Order: sequence, then structure tokens, then C-alpha cells
Amino acid sequence: MQDSFLHKGKRKFLVEYLREKIGITDEKVLEAINTVPRHLFLESIFEDYAYEDRAFPILAKQTISHPSTVAEQTELLELNEKEKVLEIGTGSGFQTAVLVAMNAWVYTVERQKDLHDFAHKKLRELHLRPKFQSFGDGFAGLPTFAPFDKILVTCGAETLPTELLHQLKIGGKMVIPLGKTDEQILTRFTKRSEKEFEKEEFGAYKFVPMLNSTNG
Ligand code: SAH
Repeated sequence: MQDSFLHKGKRKFLVEYLREKIGITDEKVLEAINTVPRHLFLESIFEDYAYEDRAFPILAKQTISHPSTVAEQTELLELNEKEKVLEIGTGSGFQTAVLVAMNAWVYTVERQKDLHDFAHKKLRELHLRPKFQSFGDGFAGLPTFAPFDKILVTCGAETLPTELLHQLKIGGKMVIPLGKTDEQILTRFTKRSEKEFEKEEFGAYKFVPMLNSTNG
């Protein structure tokens, strides 16, 4: 599959939809979504629908998030260039690519070996390489590279992974879907001091679950 003028045109429509219907205002987020060829992260049978606001199955029974969810989560990070971002749940690598396209220094962790390998190859092919890509359990974060300016969790956590909050800088933000498997509340924590966090909630979503240990 290539990135054709047709794909580029469809991306522009998607960006307008995200701006007008979803209310995304961070131009850097919209520009990154306009840049990253989402269809190349999907199985070819979904190519025609890649720029609709839909989630699709990826390897290991996981899901690539809706573009609107990727845009909303990314906007909530309030990302600045060259910030260190820890992503938990690399999945297809699409969200990783969006963060890299925004000139963040991205560290990403995935617990499914097939997806880790797929995303590793894809992100290199597209020259959208994160700083570090790890096959491991995101509950542990990446202590070697901590602290991070921002942390983004792309799977739904039933319990708050407190180790991740330790790995956040003072002033840093973590965006995470929190709740049981059928519904999670998109939540943002801002670290005010080692022990104080501001908590904000941004509505209900359904993510695949954040699971312990690794697979494969
Ligand atoms: N951002 C991804 C979304 C993938 S779905 C994309 O754009 O495609 C969420 C991912 O989180 C899945 O791939 C799942 O395997 C992964 N995941 C779940 N629990 C995890 C954990 N403890 N550590 C790392 N990754 C995890």
C-alpha cells in the first residue's frame, strides 16, 4: 500500500471533521493526524475506511482507537516539542506515530509481542521512530528513562497504575482511561508535588483492558 493523493484528500476531510464535529482545537494535533497515513497501520481490507472515525481490529485481538479518541487523548496531553512522553499500549503504532510527528520524544511499551514487532517495523518504514520501544508490562512504566513530562495510557485500567504517577515530573500530566471493562472515564492527572495530584474527568469511553504481564 502507498500513500496516494486519495488518502491525503481523505485525511484532510478527517481533520476537518475532528476540528468541526469533535471540537479539537490544538492545531499541532490536527497537523500530525493530517501527516500520519493511518491506512498503513491497518489490514488492507480496511483501507477504504481508514479515514472514517472508526476503530478497527488489529493483531492479538486488540483495537486501533477511533481517530477522534487519539485526537482527544493527545490534545489532553497539552504537548510541547521535545517533551518526553511515555505511551503505554503501542498497539498498531498509530498513536505513537502521531506523537512522534508532533516532535515529542516518545517512549512506548506494548505487552503483545506481535504488536510490538508490527509497530517496530512500521514506524521505521515510515521514518516516525520513537526514542525507545519496549516489549514489556506497562504497569511498571520505564524507570530507566523516567521522569516523563507526559504519560499516555491507551488501554483501560481498572486500578490506577501508581508506579506511572511516580515516573511523572512535577507539573507533568498523565492521561488514562480508568474504570471497569465495559466503560472507562478518560481521566487526566496533573502532578502538583510528589504527593499531590489534580484530577480531571473527560467523559466515558470503551478501551481494550490494561492487562498484567506480557504475552508472547
Ligand atoms: N494506541 C494504540 C491503541 C492500541 S489498544 C493504537 O493506536 O493502535 C491498547 C494496547 O494496549 C493494546 O495493544 C494492548 O495490548 C496494550 N496493553 C494492554 N495492557 C498493557 C500493559 N500492561 N502494558 C503495555 N501494553 C498494554
